[in-house]
Amino acid sequence: MTPAQFNTDEARWNVVSKNNSSADGAFYYAVITTGIYCRPSCRSKLPNRSNVEFFTTCDDAEAAGYRACKRCRPTETSKTEETELKIIHACRIIEESETSIKLDELAAKVNLSPYHFHRLFKKIVGVTPKQYAARHQSRRFQENLKTSPSVTDAIYSAGYGSSGSAYDKKRDQLAMKPKVYRKGADGVTITYGLAQCFLGWVIVAATDRGICAIEFGDDSDTLPEQIQARFPNAQLNKADIGFKTLIEEVVDFIESPEDTFQIPLDIQGTAFQQKVWEVLRQIKPGETMSYTDVAEQMGKPNAVRAVASACASNKLAVVIPCHRVISKTGKTGGYRWGAERKKKLLHLEKEII
Ligand SMILES: [Zn+2]
Repeated sequence: MTPAQFNTDEARWNVVSKNNSSADGAFYYAVITTGIYCRPSCRSKLPNRSNVEFFTTCDDAEAAGYRACKRCRPTETSKTEETELKIIHACRIIEESETSIKLDELAAKVNLSPYHFHRLFKKIVGVTPKQYAARHQSRRFQENLKTSPSVTDAIYSAGYGSSGSAYDKKRDQLAMKPKVYRKGADGVTITYGLAQCFLGWVIVAATDRGICAIEFGDDSDTLPEQIQARFPNAQLNKADIGFKTLIEEVVDFIESPEDTFQIPLDIQGTAFQQKVWEVLRQIKPGETMSYTDVAEQMGKPNAVRAVASACASNKLAVVIPCHRVISKTGKTGGYRWGAERKKKLLHLEKEII
């Protein structure tokens, strides 16, 4: 298998002239004047372009009369290269697939045991095959977002589709304007889904405008009630399978925090709360601020208690990182979803960054 990026002689020469090892195993180059063939990364003197021929396999080069270089030993394809090529191949399979592929199916396609495959994939790509697939689908989802009239439409048109029967696709004309929110989200439809993450259960709730709540709990049964309490008059619907990727995106974000969260949010709160949350969203993973710092940054140094209360009113756990605000003395401080979860989150972020 030759990865597409090394299909032309021009691209191959480019790699050879840079001694780049990224193409090792993908092709070989042979030097007419010496009769020797090498891996692209060979450290021997760079030959003249006009004396170079390319081969896809060692056998081809040898059939053409070339001998293997003693320095880079092209016939001894290292295990690492073979594995990397297999994993790259698996990535392409994931990208080209319209539906999700089971782990053991994917592993079988590249001739590895599921366990071994999963471990190698994570080591080489940095995320699990499932996360890789979710990210790939999410990119498609992001593209759909630009053209779809609502988040839920985008979810469905991105190919996470369901029959649609369990979900009312009729768009809510009221959406969630602040006025509606103050009325307890009267007339608003909220769709929610549940998943497990390293902090226990997480519920993700969305209106047509975006995600309106992300909350943690120990018990999956009580989490919808928690959302209903936040939006007392909203119509709460449990999502069908079409919501799965959105939830996976959120869990992925919680477990490997990045600077920005791409999915639209439907942030509801008073003007003051919104301002506090805006400051919080600027705190990067691995960093923290004190409540006093936040108040000062807002130009309201005396509003420390109001800042703390706005942090406690946050409905979008982790996405609005209120857990990154700690007490001035360096103590973790309180957290709406439990101090233990706050500690775990901060610990994780320090480890990753
Ligand atoms: Zn060589």
